[in-house]
Amino acid sequence: MASPHVLLFPFMSKGHTIPVLQLASLLLHRGASVTLFTTPANRPFISTALSDTTVSIIDIPFPKNIDGIPPGVESTDKLPDMSQWPRLVIAAKLMKPGFEKALTSLPRISFMVTDVFLGWTLESAQKFGIPRLVYHGTSNFSMALSFDASPSQQLLIDSGSDNKKLFTIPRFPWIKFSKNDFDPAFVDPESQYKKHIEYILEQVQATGKSYGIIVNSFYELESVYADYWNREVKPKAWCVGPLCLAPAPQNKAENGQTRSWIQWLDRKQEEGKPVLFVAFGSQADISREQIKQIKTGLENSGVNFLWVVRSKLAEDDDEFEYQVRDRGMLVKEWVDQREILEHSCVQGFLSHCGWNSVMESICANVPILAWPMMAEQPLNAKMVVEVIGVGLRVDTSDGFVSWEHLKKMVKELMEGEMGKMARKKVKEVGGAAAKAVAEGGSSWKALNELINELHEET
Ligand code: UDP
Ligand code: UDP
Repeated sequence: MASPHVLLFPFMSKGHTIPVLQLASLLLHRGASVTLFTTPANRPFISTALSDTTVSIIDIPFPKNIDGIPPGVESTDKLPDMSQWPRLVIAAKLMKPGFEKALTSLPRISFMVTDVFLGWTLESAQKFGIPRLVYHGTSNFSMALSFDASPSQQLLIDSGSDNKKLFTIPRFPWIKFSKNDFDPAFVDPESQYKKHIEYILEQVQATGKSYGIIVNSFYELESVYADYWNREVKPKAWCVGPLCLAPAPQNKAENGQTRSWIQWLDRKQEEGKPVLFVAFGSQADISREQIKQIKTGLENSGVNFLWVVRSKLAEDDDEFEYQVRDRGMLVKEWVDQREILEHSCVQGFLSHCGWNSVMESICANVPILAWPMMAEQPLNAKMVVEVIGVGLRVDTSDGFVSWEHLKKMVKELMEGEMGKMARKKVKEVGGAAAKAVAEGGSSWKALNELINELHEET
């Protein structure tokens, strides 16, 4: 029998692309051949990440002149602001003819893994007789809580303007929720997404008719929710993560140079100073006033910190950089976040709780100070703090975080008792993650089963 051939098509955002590249690496290590679809503007990032691998990359043209999307922008992190992201999801469907044309030119495909926001690929998959798995990008916990939004949405509406009012969701009566655990855009009648929500839901609903879901998580982390999903919801969720533990391609240290921030971390290591890593992902929009509070909070906390800030959010601020010169570093470039988290002096992560960041932090045994900003991040934060106990939560219930509160929480994470407990717990959970992906572990087995199941069918 020929080796399995898998087609991957990630959505055009960093958070949905990076883990799929890691999945590609896992598939190659299982002897599969891999073809990956992307758009021309996303190709450089992807081909750099996959250089030294045999993945073949095919560009599908992205539509031009879409209202609200500046020319040349083909990924959410390049949008002027995140209110435009639904338009990018909608525009992606116009890639369907290009997608199908590319499919006709490929050798037999065992299965495809396409993003949850590319639900339209299911029709093509059916037409070509290829099983489609969905890359969903989040945990079983948030999948189980969000798959049927209506009951919780009603509860959210019922709690009115009280962000802290507690309620339970019938299928998970042991957890107390508040409005604070959900994206404000989800319930806000003025939400900028409202107009587009139906289209997006349509994409997501195609998941229900697909062959299965690839989940970037491991069974032991959230067995209750994985079991719930596979018993009550379906299609089957295959937990094959954490994907960030996949063997990285060989090209890591581009041109052999050590980055200045790694040298800085090495120095902190020599000085015996623990460092807080601060990063809010590739997409979050943060107001100027909020950035100021973060600066003041970090400055007053007295901790050492490395802050990776998207250049569009970071105005030059020599005074701040001068004030924190001995113990703070600001980086305005794309970094290898995993490499930073794995540095042994990094002892805490102030994070927006994008699911990839959560997985990466756990795998690096770094406790999290959770500051969720949008989408399912509040649910991820809930999971981090209340379900697995590997972090603390910044209080975001006022929609704004003061420097005083941030300072207090940063100190607690880095120096306090609660931080100590989270640090102990994260080592345990990180150990379980490593076991899950190692030979014979639950994620290892799940990926093998999936490949065998689908390869035999073709
Ligand atoms: N990331 C990175 N370097 C950066 C910024 C982000 O490697 O400078 C990676 C990060 O490690 C993670 C992904 O980009 O794998 C971001 O995904 P996440 O789910 O954490 O957040 P999102 O960006 O989707 O909000
Ligand atoms: N960046 C990002 N996501 C990306 C690419 C870049 O968040 O996919 C951030 C990057 O960390 C940097 C800024 O956006 O802070 C500018 O990125 P780039 O160097 O690609 O410049 P651009 O072409 O956007 O002007």
